[in-house]
Amino acid sequence: MTLKFLGGRGAGCKILFDELKPSTEPLAPENKLLLLAGPLVGTGAPWCVKYTAVTRSPLTGTILMSLAGGFFGANLRFAGWDGLVIEGRAEEPSYLWIHEGKAELRAASHLWGKNTEDCQEAIRKELGDDRVQIACIGPAGEKAVRFASIISGKRAAGRGGAGAVMGSKNLKAIAVYGTRKPPITEAQKFEELQMAIRQKAREAERLKIFGKFGTPKNLAIVNSRGLFPTRNFQGGVFDGIGQVNAEEQQRRVLRKTTCHGCPVACGNLTRAGEGPYEGIVTEGPEYETFWVFGAQCGNTCIDAIIAADRLCDQLGMDTISTGSTIAFAMECAERGLIGRKDLEGLDLRFGNHQAMVAMISRIGNREGLGDLLAEGTRRAAQRIGQGSEKFAMHVKGMELAAYDPRGAKGMGIAYATSPRGGCHERGLISRETFGAPPPIDPLSITGKGLAAKEPQDETAVLDSLGVCVFPPHNDGMDMNETAELFSYVVGESLSTDDLMTAGERIWNLERLFNLREGFARKDDTLPPRLFQEPMPSGPAKGNIVELDHLLKDYYRTREWDERGVPTAEKLASLGLSEEGKTVK
Ligand code: SF4
Repeated sequence: MTLKFLGGRGAGCKILFDELKPSTEPLAPENKLLLLAGPLVGTGAPWCVKYTAVTRSPLTGTILMSLAGGFFGANLRFAGWDGLVIEGRAEEPSYLWIHEGKAELRAASHLWGKNTEDCQEAIRKELGDDRVQIACIGPAGEKAVRFASIISGKRAAGRGGAGAVMGSKNLKAIAVYGTRKPPITEAQKFEELQMAIRQKAREAERLKIFGKFGTPKNLAIVNSRGLFPTRNFQGGVFDGIGQVNAEEQQRRVLRKTTCHGCPVACGNLTRAGEGPYEGIVTEGPEYETFWVFGAQCGNTCIDAIIAADRLCDQLGMDTISTGSTIAFAMECAERGLIGRKDLEGLDLRFGNHQAMVAMISRIGNREGLGDLLAEGTRRAAQRIGQGSEKFAMHVKGMELAAYDPRGAKGMGIAYATSPRGGCHERGLISRETFGAPPPIDPLSITGKGLAAKEPQDETAVLDSLGVCVFPPHNDGMDMNETAELFSYVVGESLSTDDLMTAGERIWNLERLFNLREGFARKDDTLPPRLFQEPMPSGPAKGNIVELDHLLKDYYRTREWDERGVPTAEKLASLGLSEEGKTVK
């Protein structure tokens, strides 16, 4: 298993594929929720911090892999566990306490209803130990908001509703602490290499800049390239970028924050300035959150974004899906598709940040219109009807992220084929979106199949090993070094090619999972707006997404047939023939 699927995301995918009965309802007790730390997590190597939540998504019905950094993953391993498989449903609200190789289910009725900050504080107090790390859900997970997240510290396994699955099991939290060391077969060589990687990282210029600003450094870059979705993807250039950008955030930063053993410390603890949100402190916001509560909702008040980020974390909700669903509702309201009665006094229009923040609470608590929006954009559009489906900006039910594929054509493939729906993280083409070296023409449709496949497979490797993707993408560590580190852990010599083959294998198995659940070529699509409405202004003016051409190239590159099904030869070469037999 370890050499074929690596661990973390890859191992979770294999277990779910083998053990979950097809068509299992995501919120039924029979669904499984796996929390797995990658095999490099907790070893002392830099930025090896991620755990992955793997399950069937209540938002999309696809396989879901949702990752979070922070300290939870490392402490899970220190407690003596590489991962957990959670199934069934507890009779009463409960939490799991894992320490020194033992696991114990405890009553949590007194924690039900608490936000994620108060819940973590209460558990630490109860256990009498500040070092305990906790992954928990907030009210949104308890109320089955379809994009509820799992929060550990202030880090979120955000997308796709793993928090709702956890809530459906009456599981409020998982607390971990331990002092065991994860095994490393060749410890001396591992130590020497990880020290050399740390030394190199200290001198990497791109990594220094990334460490200072974190992901928000990309706000101005993506906007200048004309692919920064604005007002629910009605445009690609945000005229409020002067008020919502990394420098404006830096004026509000109290201190840097980091994940376990990471020397980069890309996080920012940020305090809202003067005005109605004064004094609200959050860890973040990250690039995507600045975008979704900024440009996507037409909002230029940066302090409202800080407040929105904190509120989503407290309620335990994915910021991208929350903000994009609100942006969709704003467009519906402006077009008169949502009645005044349903709005219950809220003036829900683009740029009204008070209404935006108020709506976040209503979604998290499933109140009024918030109850409908808690179902996500796709289901909300189905209920609202009246043509709103044309501007419901999701793929397979997951709301799109902060890159408009009319201005970065390969991202059209990334969204259409991501195993968990319209997500950027499983294969961001940074050469296209940010002009990362070697840059490629974002508006060209040539060679984009390979440009999409490579980061997809690479990300599958990093996710599975538990490596944060940001430093490797900023000259922090290359795939050869990653392969060497992993080789020392398992005591087998593995090359970059071995790892990339494993990444491809994982990607193909996730595809098989979705095909088995009935997804097909027709679901590898994009919202109609991106085909029918040319970009109105900026560097991508006049462009739409030529998805048919792009997908043909991609399927060919992947050695999938014209229906998007991996060929028998491809599966055999990846050692997946048996798994392939379960798919018609
Ligand atoms: S680069 Fe940032 S997100 Fe990644 S491990 Fe370091 S602090 Fe965490």
